[in-house]
Amino acid sequence: MNKYYLTTPLYYVNAAPHIGHTYTTMAAETIARFKRMQGYDAVMFTGTDEHGQKVERAAEAIGKTPQAFTDLISAEFRTQWEKLNIRVDRTIRTTAPEHHKIVQWLFQRCMDNGYIYKGSYSGQYCVYDELYVNEAKPGDPCPECGRTTETVTEENYFFKLSAFQQKLIELYESQPDFIQPETRRNEVLSFVRAGLNDLSISRTTLKWGIPLPVEGKHVFYVWFDALIGYMSAVADGGFDGNGLWPADLHLIGKEIVRFHAVFWPAFLMAGNVPLPKRVFAHGWLLFENDKMSKSRGNIVRSEPIRQVMGADALRYFLLREIVFGQDGSFSFDALITRYNSDLANGIGNLASRTLTMVTQYRKGAIPEGSDPGIAELAGTTIETVQQTFDRFEFSKGLEAIWSLISAVDKYIVTMAPWKLARDTSEEAQANLNKTLYTAAEALRVVTALLSPVLPQSAPKIWAQLGMTDSLDNVTFAGLKWGGLPAGQQIGEISGVFPRIEIKEGVTKMRELEEKVSAEQAALLGKKPEAAEEAPGSPKIPIDDFLKVDLRAGLVLQAERVKGSDKLMHLKVDIGEAQPRTIVAGIAEAYGPEQLLNRKVVIVANLQPRKLKGIESQGMIVAASVEGGKPVLAGFHEDIPVGARLK
Ligand SMILES: [Zn+2]
Repeated sequence: MNKYYLTTPLYYVNAAPHIGHTYTTMAAETIARFKRMQGYDAVMFTGTDEHGQKVERAAEAIGKTPQAFTDLISAEFRTQWEKLNIRVDRTIRTTAPEHHKIVQWLFQRCMDNGYIYKGSYSGQYCVYDELYVNEAKPGDPCPECGRTTETVTEENYFFKLSAFQQKLIELYESQPDFIQPETRRNEVLSFVRAGLNDLSISRTTLKWGIPLPVEGKHVFYVWFDALIGYMSAVADGGFDGNGLWPADLHLIGKEIVRFHAVFWPAFLMAGNVPLPKRVFAHGWLLFENDKMSKSRGNIVRSEPIRQVMGADALRYFLLREIVFGQDGSFSFDALITRYNSDLANGIGNLASRTLTMVTQYRKGAIPEGSDPGIAELAGTTIETVQQTFDRFEFSKGLEAIWSLISAVDKYIVTMAPWKLARDTSEEAQANLNKTLYTAAEALRVVTALLSPVLPQSAPKIWAQLGMTDSLDNVTFAGLKWGGLPAGQQIGEISGVFPRIEIKEGVTKMRELEEKVSAEQAALLGKKPEAAEEAPGSPKIPIDDFLKVDLRAGLVLQAERVKGSDKLMHLKVDIGEAQPRTIVAGIAEAYGPEQLLNRKVVIVANLQPRKLKGIESQGMIVAASVEGGKPVLAGFHEDIPVGARLK
């Protein structure tokens, strides 16, 4: 059997897992399941990157050793994958001794081949955060704290990346699918064509890392350590990758494409190690079209979604809604809408109506007969799914499956089995048999095709069809129309995808989100995450603060903005001749009646901006915590309208 070794990135453990990690990992595991259906022995890897300054500091902040800290966070990742029904075949923590051995081994090979030298590194460094700021110029601010970085010089070991420009270009040209999708390939090509600088790969200022075999006071810096995890996970004590190396696929997010498509193959070429076959970079998962980030306070976690809707609902949404490779947007509303239309009404409905009819009209035994039109469509759908999934075009493949589902729905309506059942003629009864078999067999094919995307739910439908062999053993080669044996007794019927009310579902998930976010914060030894940003914020002189004109205002009118769940259209008196028009994203937290006659804080000198066609002449001040609803700032004592806050 051919092997197929695929990897997610090694996730950095300075933060707890969120939906971005889930996106990559679920996609990878879907590919693994799909490859198994193609007959490959697919081996899926995910792991954690555990060294570096950020981890060192995060551990120190909560009074833990880096080892204890990474034990804690890497366990969170493992628990997460278990809960989400993700089968991990291989894993590594970069703090594991077997990983250290492989890193030192590859370094030694690169050194023996003449690609490592000792030199002097000059870069920008934030003394406050003890952090190197890559690609910063002298005078640039630190991205963590905003303080001006200092130029420092230290002795480091360097990797001769500059020697690989031509070899890398040859690689991309001889293997056009080495980097996918095309946009990422073009980016990488122009980066490499512009010329490559040698890479500093060690630090003496850092303690939490793997020591260099040649000089113990140096530890490996970031990428030369982390990337090698893909190999050490399959090394099994030797260096030959146990037959699994090279990887067939590195699945990554687009922000780390340069490291995977430039640095990584160069390290391997320098060490004379076979190269991975493909790097595929997917796009970003945005939250309601915004980039998810800690500072925006809009990070979504998978656990609330799992608890309310199930892991399959999330996996289906991510693969169906977003074109793999491009950026895509996540929202709770869209998730539930998609679930109801495709899973509850689509496959869920097809399963329950088909199985109910088989029970009602044929005492639960699958009859004989088949519709050639549906049979043919099922055949082409099996082909389409293979072709599209092979190109990681999941949304297209799923679309094809849903075309088959709706064709079967139409077929059932046209045949009207409920009418045929009342007609005792031989012809009517034969047509009824044909209708029931066709619907049930289509359901079997659809269920098998969906098993990589719905690994928890598909086996349930499979069992309800009375299938006794494991769905895991079904391959594309064996999946043909007519595989459902006539006479087979179906299993016990139960709904697999109950409908979810949007409002109720969103509320539940938001509530759980607050709970889970607080749990994660506690795990990281933090109080609420909103407060965490404060100490790191750049300090500003009082004059800067006084530039902001904050006023006490009185809400005179409040109405929801049509076509928006979030926006509220307000008229606010701030002591001027005319009340201000203000559009505020508070409609999910407050109704109009709660806002009328309420004293609020207004930023009065913001540049006006249009929201949903209404010009907002200011901003209302509210506190927000990650995943929670905004809470308006107000006053405990009475205060005249228009009073300035200083
Ligand atoms: Zn800093």
